[in-house]
Amino acid sequence: MKILVLGLDCAAPELLLGYEDLPHIRRLMDVGCYGRLESVIPPITVPAWMCLATSQDPGSLGVYGFRNRTDHSYSGLGIASSRSITEPAIWDHLAREGKRSIIVGVPPGYPPRRINGLAVSCFLTPDTDKNVFTHPPELSEEIRRLVGHYPVDVQGFRTEDKAWLRDAIFAMSRTQFQVVRHLLQTREWDYFHFVDIGLDRVHHGFWKYHDPQHVLHEPGSPFAETVHDYYRHLDEEIGRVLELLADDTIVLLVSDHGAQRLDGGFCVNEWLVREGLLVLKCYPKAVTPFAQLDVDWAKTRVWSEGGYYARVFFNVKGREPQGTIDPAEYARFRDEIQAKFEATTDRDGKPMGTLVFKPEEVYHRVKNVAPDLIVHFGGLYWRSIGGVGYPTIHVLENDTGPDDCNHAQFGAFILAASQSPLHGEVTGAHLLDIAPTLMDLAGYEVPETMQGRSLAAGARGASPDDAGYDPDDETIIRDRLSGLGYIG
Ligand SMILES: [Zn+2]
Repeated sequence: MKILVLGLDCAAPELLLGYEDLPHIRRLMDVGCYGRLESVIPPITVPAWMCLATSQDPGSLGVYGFRNRTDHSYSGLGIASSRSITEPAIWDHLAREGKRSIIVGVPPGYPPRRINGLAVSCFLTPDTDKNVFTHPPELSEEIRRLVGHYPVDVQGFRTEDKAWLRDAIFAMSRTQFQVVRHLLQTREWDYFHFVDIGLDRVHHGFWKYHDPQHVLHEPGSPFAETVHDYYRHLDEEIGRVLELLADDTIVLLVSDHGAQRLDGGFCVNEWLVREGLLVLKCYPKAVTPFAQLDVDWAKTRVWSEGGYYARVFFNVKGREPQGTIDPAEYARFRDEIQAKFEATTDRDGKPMGTLVFKPEEVYHRVKNVAPDLIVHFGGLYWRSIGGVGYPTIHVLENDTGPDDCNHAQFGAFILAASQSPLHGEVTGAHLLDIAPTLMDLAGYEVPETMQGRSLAAGARGASPDDAGYDPDDETIIRDRLSGLGYIG
């Protein structure tokens, strides 16, 4: 039985499941099931798509974001690539049964994965005109012959030229869907997985026009409908794809996380300097990225990476080159810093609702070099600004160009499968449940190593924990998230 996954990067449940003028998407909801989908911590594109495909949490993949510490030095940050993921994905499990897969744009997908089938790399591809961006390599030329230049992203999407940006994103998505249809029609496949990154770019570029609650909302903007228009565009493209499928194909629309307005940035390293936890040999005269600061490591105890969320690192004796924190003090110190982060306030001195996670409490395993703490400022309504030299801790402007939204903990899914026992709204689904659910519905045995559970097994009355979390761990994690406001 064939499985088709159409990944809608950043699709927000209230929009994907809420807009009523999306006839093809509504039809899939009517015949199948749908719901909010809790993402991993952090809810970030890399590693979230591969968490979905492997049913492994970020700690078990050892990938905590786009950039990860490669060792315990002060400079070793590496960018995740397809090679960073070593756990088998659903297409690897299916390959053992002789099944063929086609994956298009699943991040991190560069260099292209050598799978049993075809792979087209993702937005991390440097240059599709020059690089081989497919497996097998000759597919790159076939795609160039079909569409000319194959765009994997909109270069410079953090721009104020919104009309150009809108047109470029729509054009990219149309080209990618053209390739998807071409491969659907010309190749044999058992599992097909495409990720449309354009939706994520539309949210980041146009959310302030869409959301009246956004601090920079511009009523009556010509871009007020751009976000909604993009969902209509996706609906049309999905309709054209559905026409090409056999009736019994399992169809999944799914996002890796949701979207929510961004209220501003919290200058985490600036704050750590003021708290005396990060010590600089000289304070910069202008705003300076963290990597260019003159840090006095012999006196520094804590530093952080910026981005949508903060990865907070401790300077531990015997672990970092100039460690200052005694390992015997580590646990107590970490609790203290966690409490400090949780007590951070907004511009008006009110608690921000900052969420702080210890890796070993939210992951089954903690591989490679994990952050000591993972921090979602204001429940991700604030991003983490890594530079120093700001006059204030809170800033409205982003450090990397205009950006209107952050990722939300809950994405969405719509699953239509003729033999599925699941109908209507499904609650409590987690990103890690997706791969086991697909394998179960298609009649494969779910690998025991997968950390999620088949949603269908639950609906058939089997124990939902058969293939999933240790029940005690799940209770602890869910209670914790519930208390923090992640679970309504
Ligand atoms: Zn994403």
